[in-house]
Amino acid sequence: MLRQTLLYLSRHETAYRLITGFPFSRAAARRFVAGESLSDAIAAVRANEAHGIYAILDYLGENVISRSEARAAGDEYIAALSAIAQSGLRASVSVKLTQMGLDIGDDFCYENVARIAAQAASCHTSVCIDMEGSPYTERTLQMYRRLREHYSNVTTAIQSYLYRSQEDVACLVDEGIGNLRLIKGAYDEPASVAFPKKADVDANFLRLIEIMMRPAALARGAHCAIATHDEKIIRWAILYAYRHDVPRNRFEFQMLYGIRRDLQEKLVAKGYTVRAYIPYGTHWYPYLMRRLAERPANLLFLLRNLLL
Ligand SMILES: Cc1cc2nc3c(=O)[nH]c(=O)nc-3n(C[C@H](O)[C@H](O)[C@H](O)COP(=O)(O)OP(=O)(O)OC[C@H]3O[C@@H](n4cnc5c(N)ncnc54)[C@H](O)[C@@H]3O)c2cc1C
Repeated sequence: MLRQTLLYLSRHETAYRLITGFPFSRAAARRFVAGESLSDAIAAVRANEAHGIYAILDYLGENVISRSEARAAGDEYIAALSAIAQSGLRASVSVKLTQMGLDIGDDFCYENVARIAAQAASCHTSVCIDMEGSPYTERTLQMYRRLREHYSNVTTAIQSYLYRSQEDVACLVDEGIGNLRLIKGAYDEPASVAFPKKADVDANFLRLIEIMMRPAALARGAHCAIATHDEKIIRWAILYAYRHDVPRNRFEFQMLYGIRRDLQEKLVAKGYTVRAYIPYGTHWYPYLMRRLAERPANLLFLLRNLLL
């Protein structure tokens, strides 16, 4: 119930104005967001790399309906990729298609993401397409397939809460474009499209890992980014990979900036590749609300900022 309320508020205009108007909210957002500027983000990337954790930079923004704003977001990613390359860092980037203009038009969005993919390729790095709410799932996968025709450095994300995901993963793997980040899913979805029970979402996550780690999938180049803070799933994946001789360069772990840093460092110490998803920018409100919805105990953290 609380999760649904927070996710509802994440899309609510008045709540947005109210909550972002308080200085304490900005301070609270800093737990999950590296800062508002590119230099804040680069500093966070450097600090993570110093501990062996690679970064995935995310310039915050979504549901953009103006062409100039969508182009400006694309420009910001190009600048971020240049800054990463110039600093000698190994970070990649992650984009939301609705920030790149998906609601304006498919071709417009394609051009905007394609130039980021080209810049990322010239910087020897990759671009992941985040997965947003279910009204965008099919179009996101179509855009992923279209981009993959020209850019092999593009990947996308699949949500284990969706009923359709097993079939999507199996098809993408079969098509030889199974370079996927597996996640549980962060949006409020109806029972008609997503498992309502957490236990089913978690069980489906394991099934998706299993599909991606089958010998046939590996033979077709599958690479699985296991993006979760759930230790049970991480332990299961490590054991499964060990038992089935899945090479360590065919999977990795990804977590969010500000969450389970101890676990990130533990996995690095054991020799696994770990990436932290590092968001930055001024449009942090919906991102913060989704992080609060995942763990309502975070609300206490927010309230502490209010009181101190
Ligand atoms: C790298 C990365 C990229 C992502 N990209 C997307 C995307 O493209 N689309 C999308 O829908 N979702 C995305 N997500 C979010 C994801 O869908 C989940 O909502 C989020 O990861 C929380 O789920 P969990 O797998 O950690 O499992 P959970 O079962 O929710 O949590 C497991 C444990 O992790 C810790 N934890 C989890 N969330 C929090 C939190 N907010 N604050 C503090 N501790 C927490 C707690 O200890 C909790 O017990 C991404 C997540 C990651 C890590």
